[in-house]
Formats: sequence, C-alpha cells, structure tokens
Amino acid sequence: MSDLLEIKNVTKIFPLGGIIRKKYVTAVENVSLKIPEDKQVIITLAGESGSGKTTIANMVMGFIKPTSGEILFRGKNIWKMSKKERKRYRKEVQAVFQDPFESLNPFYKIRYVLMGPIKKLKLANSQSEADKLAREALLDVNLDPDEVLDKYPHQLSGGQRQRVMLARVFLIKPKLLIADEPVSMIDVSLRADILKIIHNLEKEYKMSCLYITHDLSTAFSISNFIMILYLGSVTEEGDFETVVKDPKHPYVRMLINSIPLPNPRSRWKGRVKLQDIEIARLEKISGCKFHNRCPEAMPICSKEVPPLIDLNEHHKVACHLYTTT
Ligand code: SF4
Repeated sequence: MSDLLEIKNVTKIFPLGGIIRKKYVTAVENVSLKIPEDKQVIITLAGESGSGKTTIANMVMGFIKPTSGEILFRGKNIWKMSKKERKRYRKEVQAVFQDPFESLNPFYKIRYVLMGPIKKLKLANSQSEADKLAREALLDVNLDPDEVLDKYPHQLSGGQRQRVMLARVFLIKPKLLIADEPVSMIDVSLRADILKIIHNLEKEYKMSCLYITHDLSTAFSISNFIMILYLGSVTEEGDFETVVKDPKHPYVRMLINSIPLPNPRSRWKGRVKLQDIEIARLEKISGCKFHNRCPEAMPICSKEVPPLIDLNEHHKVACHLYTTT
C-alpha cells in the first residue's frame, strides 16, 4: 500500500536576486518524510525560524513547487495530478495556519464560512440539515453556535477564530491536516484546548496531522514522531519520546536540554539567535551546517555532510559523531 503522503528527497532553492551575480538560498535540502495511510499519526516538524519547516508545509499544500524531489499523495506526484485528482487532494489535505484572521474573509459571517464546504462538498440535503452540521462542528470545537454563527471574524478572539477554522476541518474531514504554528498567536491559557481539539481530530476522525512548530513544548501532549530541522536539513528524527528522552545530535541536545525539567511543558527557550540563522542561510556552508557552533565539531565536520543514519528502527541522526564510530 502507498503511503498517504511521501515527501521524497525534497529540496527548495529560492533565488534572491542580485544584478551581477544572482544569489540563492537553500530553504530545504533533501528532506524525506512518510505519513502512512493505515495508521493515524501526529508528526511534529520542529525548528527555529528559517529552518525550512514552513517551506515544507507550503510545498505539501502545493503552493510552491520543489526545486527537486517529489511530494507524493498515495503514490502520485501532486504536480502531475489531473484536475480531478488535484480537487480531491485539496479536500483530503487541509491546513490551519498561524493567523486564522488571514484565512477568514472579514466580510463574511461565520455561518457563511461553514456553509461554504457544506454546499461545495454536498454534505447536506436541506438548509436545516446544513444548519445542524454547522452547529455540530462548532460544538465539536467547544464554541457556542448561537454566540458565533452570526458574527464576523473581527468580532471573535484569536482562539475563537482558530476554533472556527478547526470546525471547518471537522466538516471537511480530510485525511491529513497541516497545522502550521496553529497556537503561536493564541493566548497561552487557550493553547492546550486547541491542541486537544487537534488530538481529537486524529482519534475520532482518523486524521493524521503534520504539526509545525518552533515551540517544542507545545508538541509534547500530541506527537508520535518528530523531525527537527536546522537550516533546511534534518538533524534528527524518530519516535517522539525516544528523541526527546535521548537526543543525539548536539543541536537537538541543546534545544531539548533547554526545556527545564521536570516540567517539559514549559516553553522552549534555547533558541539560536535568529540573526545568526539568517546569516548562515545566505552562506554556503560546507560539511555539517552546524559545525561553526557545534561544541563537539571534529575536522571531518567542516568537510563532509553527515548522512542521516539509523541508530535503530525508531531513531535517525545526521551527525559524524555516529558515523565515525
Ligand atoms: Fe557537530 Fe560534527 Fe555532529 Fe555537526 S556533524 S553536529 S559539527 S559533531
């Protein structure tokens, strides 16, 4: 059986302009990831700003085309789909973004936002059935239909708007949800509720989720698997608990160790300075991209790119510490 989604050796290079010598930035480099068809998973794609995680989300959504590699949905390259296949893909893969306000038309009431997919996907045979579905979807995300249906987006809080977007997902019931920083603009006290709703989507509606975050502490309660990116490359990936309990890559160790224990739900504070990352993105770094700041760097690290190797069935790392032993 094909996987539901496969990101296969994907690289994305953006041109940066430049009149005499054109410059390029590699946002994503040789990233591969599989989401199975027969098992529901919540996969966390984590990294600092500039790590390439949102570029990956945009490629999965079909907003931008990979420079090389493929995004396959049930074995079919999404850029080679027929119109009919693409329409189905758009239904089966839905997204919620950081700022729900941007996804909602300010001139439409919430009722209209929810009626859109009900009508388009012919989910109801009558207006009263459509109303019932919209109400149920709002109740599923802990919103009072009487309170929100006739309001405009600007009359709702950020948390309520994100819930409306999730109610829309409940109606469409995609196979895969791309959740790109869905709680980063929401009040800390409401984040757990939104994450719980995403978790329920996985359990009740058998939906997988690609959860994209710069804040590792929000992934603890929901993830099965984690992939951590640094400057567009995978540093470490595997079973969530295995990686978090026993991180191997020096960068990942630094990030995870910076979450104060015993309360792993605290915010992830060990950030590499964004300015450093921006500079590093524009430079062509030979060997391991982390070698300039790695406390364990060896001579080989500035010369050769470390391959992603299997430590065991559930854990992979890209670091010469594990290739030279
Ligand atoms: Fe550090 Fe070398 Fe491993 Fe890179 S490959 S993380 S520089 S030890």
